[in-house]
Amino acid sequence: MSVPAPRHPEATAELLARLGPAQVLTDDASCFAASFDNTRYSFLPEAVIRPADVPALQAVLRLANERLVPVTVRGRGTGNTGASAPIRGGWVVHLEHWDGIEIDPQSSVAKVGPGAITQAINDAAAPHGLFFPPDPSSVRFCSIGGNIATNAGGLRAAKYGVVRDFVLALEGLLPTGESVTWSRPLRKFVSGYNLRDLWVGSEGTLGIVTQAWLRLVPLPQARRTFLLGFATDEAALEAAAGLMTSRVAPAVFEFLDRQTVEVAQRRNGRPAFDPAELAGEACPALLLIELDGHPAVLAEDAAKVRAWFAGKALALRETDDPAEAEALWNIRRTCSQAMYLLGNAKLNEDIVVPFRSYVPLIRLARRMRETHGLATPTFGHAADGNFHIHVMYDRDNAEHRRKAETAILEMMREVVAMGGAITGEHGIGISKSPFLRLQHSAAEIAAMVAVKRALDPNGILAPGQIFEPMNVWERTPAKVTLPWDRH
Ligand SMILES: Cc1cc2nc3c(=O)[nH]c(=O)nc-3n(C[C@H](O)[C@H](O)[C@H](O)COP(=O)(O)OP(=O)(O)OC[C@H]3O[C@@H](n4cnc5c(N)ncnc54)[C@H](O)[C@@H]3O)c2cc1C
Repeated sequence: MSVPAPRHPEATAELLARLGPAQVLTDDASCFAASFDNTRYSFLPEAVIRPADVPALQAVLRLANERLVPVTVRGRGTGNTGASAPIRGGWVVHLEHWDGIEIDPQSSVAKVGPGAITQAINDAAAPHGLFFPPDPSSVRFCSIGGNIATNAGGLRAAKYGVVRDFVLALEGLLPTGESVTWSRPLRKFVSGYNLRDLWVGSEGTLGIVTQAWLRLVPLPQARRTFLLGFATDEAALEAAAGLMTSRVAPAVFEFLDRQTVEVAQRRNGRPAFDPAELAGEACPALLLIELDGHPAVLAEDAAKVRAWFAGKALALRETDDPAEAEALWNIRRTCSQAMYLLGNAKLNEDIVVPFRSYVPLIRLARRMRETHGLATPTFGHAADGNFHIHVMYDRDNAEHRRKAETAILEMMREVVAMGGAITGEHGIGISKSPFLRLQHSAAEIAAMVAVKRALDPNGILAPGQIFEPMNVWERTPAKVTLPWDRH
C-alpha cells in the first residue's frame, strides 16, 4: 500500500492568497484531471496552478522551495510513462494556455509557448511552405512543452530526427525560480555548456520550459505511400533491415507483426489485402512506407523500393493520391486501439534494438506470448529500430498481472543484452523506473542524480520521477475516457 503524500495546506493557502482563485485551482475536478496522464495512474495534487505569466510562475517556484512543496509540470497529459503525474502530491503547474505560435518565415523558425499543440505549429507553418517534422502519433493532442521534455519521436524520426534535432533555444525557469535562456534562435551557438540539450528529454525534472524556438524545414513537394504484405514477421523484418542498405531514406517506415494485423483486421472488419493477393495468406505481416521529397528523387527511391521488395513481398500497393494513401494508412492508425480486443490492459513499451536484432526481437515477443500465454502484438518504426512491444492482459486477474510484469522484465533484460534501449521515445517517468538500472551503471545514475541535485537542491521539481523504482502494476488505473481514445 502506498503512503499518502504529505500535504501543504498553509503553503497552498498562501499561494491562493497571492495569485487568486483564477490561477490556483483547488477543486476536486481540476485536481483529478491533473492527476494522471495516458497511463491513467492517478496521484492527486493539492492544487493546479495556471500561472498568468512568468513572474507568477516564479512566485510559485520560490514558495515551493521555501515550503518544500513538490511541483510537477503538466503539458497535455498524453505521456505514456506517468511523468506528469504528481506522484508526491503538491502542486501541478499547467501551462496549456501558454500556447502562442509565431512563425518567422525568413529564418524558418517557430517561436512557441510550451502549451501549443504540436499539430497547431504545423498548421501555422504550412502557409509558409514549412513544417516541424517530429510527429508523435499524438500530434493533435500533445503539447510542444511535453514533446521537448520527453524528446518525443514519431513516425518520421528516422529521416528527419527527433524533437532535440529541431530545438534551437529554450527559455525557462530553473527549479529554484531563476530565469534562464539556453542557446539562442541561431543556426550556430557553442557558448558554454549545452544545457538546452540537457533539458530536452529531462522529463520535467530539471526546469520548466516557458518558451521555445524551433527549426522548421520546407514541406516536401511530393509523397508516395506503399503497403507491403509478407508471409511471416521474419520475412518483413529481414526485408526492412535490408532496405536500409539501398540508401533509401523513407520518411515513414512502419512494421506491423501478424498478431497486430490480425486484431486490427478483426476490429476494422476488413483485411489490409485481399487474401487472393497474398497467395491465400489471410493475415500478413505488413510494412508501410512513405517516401517524400522532390519528385525526381522520389521517383528514383520508389524504383529502389519496388526493386528491393520484388520477390520478397507477397503483395505491394502504392499510391501518390492522398485519399488512397489514407486508406493504406488505416490499419496503422487503428491498430493500437484494436489491441484492446486482446485484453483490457496494455503494457506499451517503446524499446530500441539494432538492425541485426530485428528478427531475434520478434522471436522474443512470440516466445513471451507462448511462455506466459499473453498476447504480445508488436509494431514500430522499422527504420530506426524503435518497436512497440505490447503485453495485453486482464487487469482484474492477479495471475495475468504477475505474468505481464515477469514478461516485461524478461524482455527489458534481453533488449539491453542485444545492445538496445529500454525506451526510445516515451522516457522513463514512473512506468519504466524499475528498468533504469538494467540500462545504466551505478556511476551513470549517480552522475544523473548529481545533475538533478545541482539544479534542484531542494528536490521540489517532479520528485520521485525517473530514479525511484515504482511498480506500477500494483496500481489500478483510473477508469476514464481520454480524447485520443476515440481516434
Ligand atoms: C495515442 C498516443 C500516441 C502517442 N504516440 C507517440 C509517438 O509516436 N511518439 C512519442 O514520442 N510519444 C508518443 N506518445 C506519448 C506522448 O504523446 C508524448 O510523450 C508527448 O511528448 C507528451 O506531451 P504532453 O504535452 O502530453 O506532455 P505530458 O504528458 O503532460 O508531460 C510529459 C512530460 O513533459 C513534462 N513537461 C510538460 N510541459 C513541460 C514544460 N513546459 N516544461 C518542462 N517539462 C514539461 C512533464 O512534466 C512530463 O515529464 C503518444 C501518446 C498517445 C496517447
